[in-house]
Amino acid sequence: MDYSTNFSKSTSKKKVVAVVGGGLVGALNACYFAKRGFQVEVFESREDIRQAKIVKGRSINLALSHRGRQALKQVGMEDTIVSKGIPMHSRMIHSLNGTQYPIPYGKKGQCIFVMLCSVTAAAETYSNTKLNFAHKLLNWINHTLTFSLSISLSLFLKYLIVGCDGAFSAIRKQFLRQSRFNFSQTYIPHGYLELTMPPINGEFAMKPNYLHIWPRNTFMMIALPNLDKTFTCTLFMPFDEFENVTTGDQVIEFFQKYFPDAIPLIGADALKRDYFRLPAQAMVSVKCSPYHLSDKCVLMGDAAHAVVPFYGQGMNAGFEDCLVFNEIMDQLNEDFSAVLPEYTRVRVPDDHAIADLAMYNYVEMRSHVNSKWFLFRKYIDNF
Ligand code: FAD
Repeated sequence: MDYSTNFSKSTSKKKVVAVVGGGLVGALNACYFAKRGFQVEVFESREDIRQAKIVKGRSINLALSHRGRQALKQVGMEDTIVSKGIPMHSRMIHSLNGTQYPIPYGKKGQCIFVMLCSVTAAAETYSNTKLNFAHKLLNWINHTLTFSLSISLSLFLKYLIVGCDGAFSAIRKQFLRQSRFNFSQTYIPHGYLELTMPPINGEFAMKPNYLHIWPRNTFMMIALPNLDKTFTCTLFMPFDEFENVTTGDQVIEFFQKYFPDAIPLIGADALKRDYFRLPAQAMVSVKCSPYHLSDKCVLMGDAAHAVVPFYGQGMNAGFEDCLVFNEIMDQLNEDFSAVLPEYTRVRVPDDHAIADLAMYNYVEMRSHVNSKWFLFRKYIDNF
C-alpha cells in the first residue's frame, strides 16, 4: 500500500515532521513539535502498548531527575508526570545481613521520581499529531520511508525526519552510508533481568519512597515502586553468572546467598518461575556523530546515544535532547539548514560526556571489585 498521495494532500501546506519511534523520547518530541504548530506523524513499530494484552520488554518505571523534568516542564508536562509518579527521597541500602539504612538524595526536600505514566497519552492530546502504531520502519531511501506491511510514504523536501527509534535505530543505518559519520557501540559483560515483588495485604512489601539497592560486589539488585504497589526489581549481573543459574533450585540458592531478605518478599515460587521468564537482556553503549544529515534528518534519544544505565540518565538525556533542539529552533527561526548542524555542535559533546560518565562508573565498579567499601560507595553514588 502506498498512502503517500493522501498524506501529501493533507499536509502539503503545513510544516511537517515525521518522528520515527514512539517511545519516551519520540512521544515527547511529538509534543514539542505539535506545540510549535507542526503537523506531526509518529511511526511506532509496536502495537499501542496501552491496548496490548501482552507487553514484551522492560517495564516503564524509570528514575526521572532534574534534567528530564526540565524538558517536561518546558512543554507543560512536568506536573502531570510528577503527580502520577512516586517520589524517592533516599536510596535504601539492603545489607547482606538484612539490615537496611537510607542514604538521602541531596538536601532535605530533594528527590528523584519514579516515572510511571507514558508520554504517549500527552502526544495524543494534540490535534495536529497522529500516532501510527504497528509501523515498523524498514528503510529510508530518497525521501521515501518504507514500513512493514508494505506501506511506503514519500516525503517532501521540506519534511524533517526525527529518528527516535532507540539503540538499534533503523534511521541511523542510513547515516552509516555517509562519509565522515562516526559510530561506535560497546556491549558490556553485564546483563539484567526484571522480577516483580508483589504487594503484601494490599500494601507495598517495602517502604515505597526509596530506591532500594542491594549492592553485592559485581552483582547488584535495585527495586523501584509502581503505582499498583508492586516493586520492579532489576538484577544486574555478568552474563557468565546468569549462565551458571539454570534451575529453580539454583535461583533460590543464589538468592539465599546474596539477597536473602528478598526471597520472602518476591516469593520463592514466583522467583523460581519469573527468573526464567525472559533471558537476561544485554546493555549497549552507542556513540555517534554528527546527529544530523543535511537539513533532512536528526537523531535523538537512544538512537543518538544509548548509554549504560549506571547513571540513571538515558531517558533524562533523551528528554533534554528535545529541550535543546526546541531552544535552537527558537534561536534560528526553525531554519533546519542552520538548526540541525547547531544541534549536533551543541549536543554531541554533552551526550558523549553522559555516555562516558555512565561507562566510567560501570568500569570503576568492576575494576574495584576487591575494594568492597569503594565499590559499595560507587554503587550507591550512581543511583
Ligand atoms: P526507546 O525507549 O528504545 O524507544 C524507541 C522506540 O522506537 C520504541 O518504542 C521502539 O518500538 C520504536 N522503534 C524501534 N525501531 C523502530 C522502527 N524500525 N520503526 C518504528 N519504530 C521503531 N534512563 C533514565 O533516565 N532513568 C532510569 O532510571 C533508567 N533506567 C534504565 C534501566 C535499564 C535496565 C535500562 C536498560 C535503561 C534504563 N534507562 C534509564 C535508559 C532508558 O530506558 C532509555 O534511555 C530510554 O528508554 C530511551 O528512550 P528512546 O525513546 O530514545 O528509546
